[in-house]
Amino acid sequence: MASVTQLHKPQPLLQEDFRHGYLKPMSYSMEDVSKAVVNHLNVQSSEHNLTPIQKSALERYRYGGTWNLGQPNSTQNIKKFFNEVYFNGILTGFGSLELLSPENMIKRRGYTVHAFTELLMPGVEKDLRYKLKTPKAIIIIENLDANEETYRKPNIRMQSYLDTLLHEMLHAVFPILTCWCQFGCAGVHANHGFQWQAAALALEEADDSGNGLLRLGCDLDKSGIEAGRGEDLSSYKECDGSGGLWEEVE
Ligand SMILES: [Zn+2]
Ligand SMILES: [Zn+2]
Repeated sequence: MASVTQLHKPQPLLQEDFRHGYLKPMSYSMEDVSKAVVNHLNVQSSEHNLTPIQKSALERYRYGGTWNLGQPNSTQNIKKFFNEVYFNGILTGFGSLELLSPENMIKRRGYTVHAFTELLMPGVEKDLRYKLKTPKAIIIIENLDANEETYRKPNIRMQSYLDTLLHEMLHAVFPILTCWCQFGCAGVHANHGFQWQAAALALEEADDSGNGLLRLGCDLDKSGIEAGRGEDLSSYKECDGSGGLWEEVE
């Protein structure tokens, strides 16, 4: 067993680096990533404090009308706004989003689930012909059935997509940015640990429907998670000793 002196201390995450292109993937601690998300969201109380990425995204959001509840690609569009406004663009290049039918969700996952995030980590590629240089997060969300009583109304369907998407995007942030080394860092990536919860709360406040940034009133289902509803908290599994991982989070 490694002694305390051998444990890896990840490099600090500087707040000014919390923007697209400045962070090094798989390098920081869970605590630092959480703090950076919370700080990023907390300084938004006035227009003056918005970052250039946020300013331009909000401008497009307000005046561009680039997303529309009736359009099939609206979830893809809102993903871009979430990334730029709430995460300062840090997920750019690290992820993708797929919407699958309930049948295909079961095929992909093996059982019924509404959403999950697949993480592809360098070192444990399923197909060795395609070596990854950086981690990738594939967010997979179930296409909601408009014939189902609960989701008959388009606004209810859309809110569900938005809530789920933001929840999964926050999942993607942690494994992409945090260190996974075998010297004390791997094994600390609890899906809904306190670091995730703190960031989730900050996100909900930043997205408040009355005075938030995008004002979508997203609910990241923290209470459902605390009650253990529909969430598998121990779904992550560690691989061989190569330092790579294959993980799936819900
Ligand atoms: Zn480490
Ligand atoms: Zn979750």
